[in-house]
Amino acid sequence: MPKPDFWKNNKRYYDLKSYWRNLFGCNVHKLQIDAGFSCPNRDGYVAVGGCIYCDGRGSKLRQKGILPSVTEQIASGKKYYKPHASKFVAYFQTFTNTYAPVEKLRELYKEALAQEDVIGLSIGTRPDCIDTYVVELLSEHAKKYHIWVELGLQSANDQTLQFINRGHNFQQFTESVKLLAGNGINICVHIIIGLPGENDKDVLNTARTLAAMPVNGIKIHSLLALDGTVLGEMYKKRTISMITKEQYVSLAADVLEILPPEMVIQRLTADGYRDIFLAPDWAMNKLDVLNSINKELERRDSYQGKKYRITS
Ligand code: SF4
Repeated sequence: MPKPDFWKNNKRYYDLKSYWRNLFGCNVHKLQIDAGFSCPNRDGYVAVGGCIYCDGRGSKLRQKGILPSVTEQIASGKKYYKPHASKFVAYFQTFTNTYAPVEKLRELYKEALAQEDVIGLSIGTRPDCIDTYVVELLSEHAKKYHIWVELGLQSANDQTLQFINRGHNFQQFTESVKLLAGNGINICVHIIIGLPGENDKDVLNTARTLAAMPVNGIKIHSLLALDGTVLGEMYKKRTISMITKEQYVSLAADVLEILPPEMVIQRLTADGYRDIFLAPDWAMNKLDVLNSINKELERRDSYQGKKYRITS
């Protein structure tokens, strides 16, 4: 198999920065937005308490008090990132950003897209909050703008989803992908490595399953135990153990080998949460984790997609 294009970026996987440079010929940056959404897995609509690892605090802006408007949040983000990027994607990140009547969504997305140099949207949400109205709205925008939907999945194993209190199953995820695919909307899926009760086989099964679906991007990170969460309590009581750096690096490399070479790797580590972070210690050194994954691929003389097999 010829070495894929991203090889020339000194990375052994297709990172988001390279993808956007290839697509738009310039640096593009995601601007995080907290538009004041809630989450049905926290407010009782689906469940209460949320996923066992979720701290439920929302963005730093929300923690400070009244949220600035979408326009104001984009303006301050642009000011900060302007030296490093010339175009921007408005990232509706906090909680479930399709969990509102479609008219409200239309207003918020339109406001973001009206800002200068904003070329698209990335909408973070849950599989059970995708319906035909949302797809119709986003596919309309996709005719003119660069649109991503980021679906939280975490694992393709229903037992795991139940244990972590996701409030949806894998079937609901596949239905949301079916609804979104083929409408000009890019789909990014979030997965976690190191979930309680999961072994290597489970993680690789999730990766293989996603590799065979119309998924355009992925965000991967290790499970983090945060203070004030159900998982944090489990960690403190030592009823769960956290994945080691060596295990994570090796599994992340395994996952990258299985994924299609053109799938955009939007994240390989988690960040933030320093004030409530409990474990694992190594996960706080993001650069070291990224370097270690690249080194592991180098050691194997491998790269993203090396073991990807097209299934029919
Ligand atoms: S879906 Fe997201 S916001 Fe909702 S409880 Fe889970 S992690 Fe928290």
